[in-house]
Amino acid sequence: MTTLIIGGGVVGLSIAFGLLQQGKSVLVLDGGDGDFRASRGNFGLVWIQGKGVDCPSYSNWSRRSAGLWPGYAEDLKKLTGIDISLSQKGGVDYFTDETELKDRIAALESLKQAVGGDYPFEVLDHSGLKKLVPEIGPKVIGGLYSPMDGHVNPLLLLQALSSAVRRLGGDLRTGAQVVGIEAADRAFSVRLANGDRAEGEAIVLAAGLGASELGPELGFKAPVRAQQGQVLITERLPFFLNYPSGTLRQVNEGGVQIGASKAEIGADDREDLGTIAKLARHAVDVFPHLAPVNLVRSWAALRVMSPDGLPIYQRSTKYEGARFVTCHSGITLAAAHARLLPDWVVGSNQVPDLSDFSEARF
Ligand SMILES: Cc1cc2nc3c(=O)[nH]c(=O)nc-3n(C[C@H](O)[C@H](O)[C@H](O)COP(=O)(O)OP(=O)(O)OC[C@H]3O[C@@H](n4cnc5c(N)ncnc54)[C@H](O)[C@@H]3O)c2cc1C
Repeated sequence: MTTLIIGGGVVGLSIAFGLLQQGKSVLVLDGGDGDFRASRGNFGLVWIQGKGVDCPSYSNWSRRSAGLWPGYAEDLKKLTGIDISLSQKGGVDYFTDETELKDRIAALESLKQAVGGDYPFEVLDHSGLKKLVPEIGPKVIGGLYSPMDGHVNPLLLLQALSSAVRRLGGDLRTGAQVVGIEAADRAFSVRLANGDRAEGEAIVLAAGLGASELGPELGFKAPVRAQQGQVLITERLPFFLNYPSGTLRQVNEGGVQIGASKAEIGADDREDLGTIAKLARHAVDVFPHLAPVNLVRSWAALRVMSPDGLPIYQRSTKYEGARFVTCHSGITLAAAHARLLPDWVVGSNQVPDLSDFSEARF
């Protein structure tokens, strides 16, 4: 049985990798370079603190994925030789505003209770935080540390996944824009923009923002929208930052990545100077020694958002073998997608309970 996967971003490739590890046959069809591709423009966090504040099962699912990450990264390294620079020493969120800090502490406390108490985090005042991260500036009033958080090099992840899929015998076709689907319960035939066709007995729609167009052909609502995020990166610096935060991290090559903004402006991936300045100002507020440092690059990319920001894992109500997968934190969830979703895709008994993430909620 061949599973067709539409979309070769981190979501589609992680599922492909997991299926191939189980010995399944996979054909990944990935669109053109003009497509929006969140997997090539993201911040690279494997982030848990604060996720699922209104949905404990999302918090648990993300945390389960974080727990699977070391083995997932190790599998990729063994197979491809690519070290994707996973670090899970914990993460710190920095606060310059008292009310924001108080609100976040209250949210984490309530989430901690909702998940049964096992939710490690520490509230640090300025001096406590300075012991952990000596470079913080006087505007930082405190922060939240959690050992659950980490980060990775997301471009190396994508490269390793592509290589792993091919090494395991998967067929990964690029420039393969799917423009139509003919479906029956266990027989799918997709039409490509270049006139080619591809066939499979199961299909996974993992096309990011492209899913909204193809979804209805498989019986999905696929209600995804774009949310723009801008990111900056500095020149390479001596290593000083051991812990990533939601807005600042030092990447494995030494640059400090600053981001990411959130803008509901539709499918617009152009940067603007106002946002870049705001992000840079925040970075200098937290780490004043960054003020004279050069920025070498900035970019905007589009997040793939469901209406409530939670993932969607949906079996088609029309066709037995069709699945739809999308999420807004595809790096964090990549390990769960590789290790746990294949069983759900092939419909075996060991499926994780994903009922909270069905499309029925919309
Ligand atoms: C600025 C920013 C920061 C982020 N930071 C983080 C973070 O720190 N941690 C985290 O966990 N997540 C983060 N994310 C989210 C993460 O990047 C996404 O969840 C993830 O990349 C989504 O992967 P995807 O494969 O679903 O989508 P994409 O990467 O968009 O891939 C979809 C693929 O489908 C293909 N496609 C589309 N239509 C078709 C078609 N018709 N036929 C064939 N192929 C098609 C496209 O070519 C594309 O390659 C961030 C995102 C952004 C934008």
